[in-house]
This record gives sequence, C-alpha cells and structure tokens, in this order.
Amino acid sequence: MLPFPRIRSQDPAARVTVSPRSRVLADSFGRVATDLRVSLTDRCNLRCTYCMPAEGLDWMPHDQVLTDDEMVRLITIGVTLLGIRTVRLTGGEPLLRKNLERLVADISALAPRPVVALTTNGIGLAARAEALAAAGLTRINVSLDTLNPATFKQLTRRPRLDDVLAGVAAARRAGLNPVKINSVLMRGVNDHEAADLLSWAMTEQVHLRFIEQMPLDAQHAWDRTQMITAADIREQLAQQFGLVEDPDDAAVRGSAPAELFRVVGTNYSVGIISAVTKPFCGACDRVRLTADGQIRNCLFSRVESDLRAPLRNGASDEEIADQWVLAVAGKRAGHGIDDPSFLQPDRPMSAIGG
Ligand code: SAM
Ligand code: SF4
Repeated sequence: MLPFPRIRSQDPAARVTVSPRSRVLADSFGRVATDLRVSLTDRCNLRCTYCMPAEGLDWMPHDQVLTDDEMVRLITIGVTLLGIRTVRLTGGEPLLRKNLERLVADISALAPRPVVALTTNGIGLAARAEALAAAGLTRINVSLDTLNPATFKQLTRRPRLDDVLAGVAAARRAGLNPVKINSVLMRGVNDHEAADLLSWAMTEQVHLRFIEQMPLDAQHAWDRTQMITAADIREQLAQQFGLVEDPDDAAVRGSAPAELFRVVGTNYSVGIISAVTKPFCGACDRVRLTADGQIRNCLFSRVESDLRAPLRNGASDEEIADQWVLAVAGKRAGHGIDDPSFLQPDRPMSAIGG
C-alpha cells in the first residue's frame, strides 16, 4: 500500500503570483512543488558504496547534458512561471560542473530571487566556498559519513577526508548559513560513529542530519534488513546524549523531512530523516531536473518527462512550462518502497540528484 498523502490546502505562499502568466506545480493530492533539485552532472569524484559501484558508471554523453544556458533557461521558467522558490544544485558532484559560480550567480539574479542551495561531497569546496557565497549561494549541505580517514576511504573508495573537512571549514568561514552535514550510516562500517559525528557537529556548529539509506544505488545492493533505521540512530545517540523531540520542530518543520531532536542541556538539534521507515511523501514539495533535461516528480519515479527535446526544438517558455505542469500533476501518492510491487528506478541517485 502506498502511504496516503495528507491532503493539504495549498500553501498560501505557493499561490503568490510571480508573473501574470504563472501557474503552479500542483499534483492531484494538493501538494505543490516549490523546491527544485537540479542535477548538474552525473559524474563524481567519489564512489560511495551506497551510491555507485567502484568502477563508476557510464557517464552521460556531453551532448545530452544541458548546457549552462539551457540549465538557466529551464530554471528561469521554474522560478518565474511555476512558483519555484528554492533551487538546490546537486549531482553527481556539482563542484565538477565548470562555471558553477556563474550558474549560481545567474540563478540568484532571477526575480523573485530563489534560495540557492548546494549539496556537495565537499571536495574542492575549500578553494571555492568564498566565490560561491559571493555569487549568491546561501545554503550548503556537505555529505560526510565518518570522521575516520580509513573508514572514509572504505566508504567512498577515495582517501579524501581532509579535503571534505577543509571544505566544511571554508563554507563556515565564507558565511554560508546554514552549513548542514548529511550522513548515511552503513551497518558494520560507520554505524558506531553516530555519536562522534554529533559531538563533532556540535563543536563545529554545523547542522547534522542522518539520512536512512534508500534503494537508489546503481548496484541495487540495498537490503532493508541491513539498513540502519532512524530508530537505530536514536538508540546509538542515546548512549551518549540525552535527546528529546525538539519543541520548536513542529512549528518550523513545514515540508522539511528531518525530524529534529534537541540534545538535552544544549540548544543544539540533530536531524534524522526517516525516508524509508517514516516517509514524508505527504508533505513533499520537491521536483527534480536531471542533467539531461528530464523532469522527475519523485526520487523514486520510474517515469520522466523530457524537457530537453522541446527546449532544443524551439518550444516557447509557456509550452515548456505546460509540459512541466503535466509532469508534476501525475505525481504518485508516495514512494511505495514497502509495496510488494516496488521497483527501484533505473536511474541511480547520482544521476537523479539527491
Ligand atoms: N555528490 C554530492 C553529495 O554526495 O553530497 C551530491 C549528490 S549525492 C547523490 C546527494 C546526497 O544523497 C548525499 O548526501 C548522499 O549521501 C545521499 N545519498 C546517495 N545515495 C544514497 C542512498 N542510497 N540513500 C540515502 N542517501 C543517499
Ligand atoms: Fe558521489 Fe555523492 Fe554519490 Fe558519493 S553520494 S558517489 S559523493 S554522488
């Protein structure tokens, strides 16, 4: 059974008219997509075991990947005609995209100005954080699953922990706010490190969010019985920290997927995203654009809507916006991971944009 979405009345802010020609990206359950995740590339310089095989993947041919101008045109349509208010740049590894700073500047210059966010593995960020902040980037998520160099190498298959830590420090120095850390725990690899990661995040004053591992790896090796659940994570943390549900969470959470827990005796809250065991599909406000110009209305969707062909065939902004609206209208109630008929999408996480 798919989880039935909470039917919401439309978020009033999502109805704000951004242009006389504007529409909204609504689905048949009353959800409105305002958060666009753009995968800038499917390539990556790490090989996280829960994401990619050791040998990497067959990367998209260059001519299929949207150019900077094409990316900016689609994002402009999303922001000015379709009510998109947050644009998160991701991948693959978005720092591998040449001209990332330029893209950030172009997106930040749109009216109404969207929040521009980046999800990155942090490699190379130390040298670019300042320029990215100057270009208009406001938020950043850096993925970091371990503080142990050997475990980092085992998990990502590359010895780059120091680069990531330097990237996090640079992001803070550059004034990016908030700096969030995404951590995935893997049984028998780094699941004993939950409390260490929390101590570190509290010291570094960065927001830590644990994410349950999802069936989105290219190897299709995900195993529900081996997955570290949100409950496991809470248990691990509770061995060293007192945790209570964050009293402000319900008020501020909105469509944010992380459940927040306050560390007793501090004003620090840690997030846990139960993407598998407690899906937040009913409050989902996301839509995704892949590097080759496909709209995906869900991470787990098995269908995509091609915007690259109309874009390259001379379609008008309105025609493209109409196709985008249709693509979101058919969004399913939920990801259906627990449904016996669930099938993992053909695209792995690295080519969808996490
Ligand atoms: N390369 C960048 C990075 O690692 O942050 C951006 C892309 S990555 C696909 C985005 C996020 O997805 C990362 O935080 C990563 O840990 C997470 N991720 C990748 N595969 C996942 C999986 N199977 N389950 C849960 N999260 C996953
Ligand atoms: Fe690369 Fe991010 Fe996937 Fe790791 S999670 S392999 S850094 S895309």
